[in-house]
Parts: sequence; structure tokens; C-alpha cells
Amino acid sequence: MFSRSLRASLNAMRLRAFTLLFFVMLATFSRAEKQAKHPTDILRVFFIDVEGGQATLFVSPSGQSFLVDVGWGGHDFRDADRIVAAAKQAGLTKIDYVLITHFHPDHVGGVPQLAQRIPVGTFIDHGINREFTPEITKLYEDYQQVLVQHGYEHIIARPGDVLPINGMDVKVVSADGDVLRTPLRGAGKPNELCNTPVDYPEDKSENARSLGIHITFGRLTLLDLGDLTADKEVELVCRNNLLGYVDVLVVSHHGWKESSSPLLVHSILPRVAIMDNGETKGGSVSVLDTVKSSPGLEDLWQLHYSPEGGELHNTQPGRIANLLGKDEGKGLELTGGRDGSFSVMNERTGETKRYARPQ
Ligand SMILES: [Zn+2]
Repeated sequence: MFSRSLRASLNAMRLRAFTLLFFVMLATFSRAEKQAKHPTDILRVFFIDVEGGQATLFVSPSGQSFLVDVGWGGHDFRDADRIVAAAKQAGLTKIDYVLITHFHPDHVGGVPQLAQRIPVGTFIDHGINREFTPEITKLYEDYQQVLVQHGYEHIIARPGDVLPINGMDVKVVSADGDVLRTPLRGAGKPNELCNTPVDYPEDKSENARSLGIHITFGRLTLLDLGDLTADKEVELVCRNNLLGYVDVLVVSHHGWKESSSPLLVHSILPRVAIMDNGETKGGSVSVLDTVKSSPGLEDLWQLHYSPEGGELHNTQPGRIANLLGKDEGKGLELTGGRDGSFSVMNERTGETKRYARPQ
């Protein structure tokens, strides 16, 4: 038999334990609810293998999607289907924005096929084509026809414009041969690398008209200049570096030597560079070396092994999505946090490398 006072103190202990349990459960439920509302406060970027073209899919935490270029046409819908597969993996049924950097076949060629495979909201480009070869003229006409047939929204972007994409800040830094004239936030310091004179030939093709973008997600920054050539890169970083530093560089022009000059790469000092080269396209020795020798670079990733680069110049095999002669269309996926941390996953091996947030 318990005394009355012992029973009272047992009851008080039970009440305290129950109250504690109640608040623990409340905290757990509210945390779970918060996580359910914001299940993934991350930026996902899929580097899709379109065999030496470009197709890079950005998906913001809100689920809004933004595709930079669509790869090649032909090839029995190969590139459109690879883009749709990445979109499905991200849980998308529609691509909100498609940006065409320029009107070459490896960037715009896949538009008619993509339009047949998945709904698209808005197309963004640099304005009219100014390269009048029969091939490029035809590609541009086909693209225009798709815009009209499907009644897509269409934006012509200029340097300095901020694109209306929710969940990330996308600023245009080059378009139609013009480049940014005022620095990005925090950038604009005089650049010592400009003291050594360089003379890059003027590129008169669509490459130099590439629509280049700078993306900010919290503290994480990414730069994608399409196939912008070295003569235009100089204008972005000399005499003042208008771009500042970036965390992730999408290596321009598939790693071809006409772009990704040491002046550009060593001015913006990427932590990680991702090269969308093909097995027989891009991946020049000089660019592989420029990127790998960039001060502070932690890793170069490549969509393909470059035969020109050989054992000496390619990055390590674990950072390559498709090895020589084993092309399975594997991609790379970057996952970024607002604190500036990010990771890159190699679809071929399933291995992920994490990059800590900057101090
Ligand atoms: Zn290209």
C-alpha cells in the first residue's frame, strides 16, 4: 500500500513525464511537417550526355525547371529522350524554361524532337540568327516554326537581364555578341592577369553570340557561357573582372581550345569545372590543362574521356561519366545547397563527391 503523499508524488512524476513526451512529440511532428513542406531545399543540375552538344537541366527547390540547350536533332530522338529521362528522374512533367545559347546544331538542333516529347513553357534566346550558312539558316527556321506552331512564350535576353526563374537568380552576362558592362554583385575588381597582353582572333560565328548566364543559389554560384569564344571572354574579365569568382564552371564550348582561355578560367577561379565534351568532340589538351592548373580547382569532371587528352591530360577516371569506347550516355548530377556546399554524382559509378561549404 502506498501512502497518500507517495501516490501524489508518483502522479506528479507521471504528469511531468507525459508533458515531456507530449512536447517531444509536438517538436518531432512540427519538424516533420516543415520537412514535408520543404522536402528538398536544394538545387539539382543534370549534365545530360548529348554526345558533344549541351543539355543542362536545372531544377529549383520549388520544382521550377530550366534547361540550357537541347542537344542534337536526328539520332532517332536520342537527345530528346535523354532529356525527358532526366526530367522524369527529377519528377517533372513539363520544362518551364528552355534557354538556347546559340543556333548551332548541337544546341538548338533537338528542339523539334523535344517539343514532341514533353511540354515546354517558355523559350529564351539571344534574338535573330546572324550566321547565314544553309545549315544554320535551316536550323533557325525549324526552331522558329516550332515556336509558332506550339505558341510558346518567347523571351529575347540581353546582358544584364535577370531571367524570371523562381528559386534561383539567373543573370545574363552575354548575348548576341554583347557582354555585361557592369560587374556582378561583389565583382568588378581590377584584374592583374590583364597586364599580360593577349590577342584572341575575332569569332564571327554564332559561338561568339552565345547567351551566357551566371546563376546564384544562396551562396552557390555557377557560370555557363555556352560556346562563347575567347575574344568575348576577355571583355568579361578585363580590365576589371566583371564576373568575380564562381564555384562551378560549366566549361565553355565542350572544352574546345577556341574557348575557356587561361585568362577567363584563372580569373574566375572555379572550385569545380564540368566539361560537356563528347567522345570525339571538345576536350582539347590545352583546355584540360588550363582547367586543371587553375589555382584552387578541386576537381574537373568530364562527360567523356577525351582521346586527344590521353592518360596525361584527362581527369581521373572516377570523374568521367563515359569512358573510352563504353559510351552509355551516362550523365553527371550536381546537388547544391544554399550554404554554398554541393556534391557531384557520377551516374556511371554511382559515386558522389561532396564539396564543403566555403569558410
Ligand atoms: Zn557547341
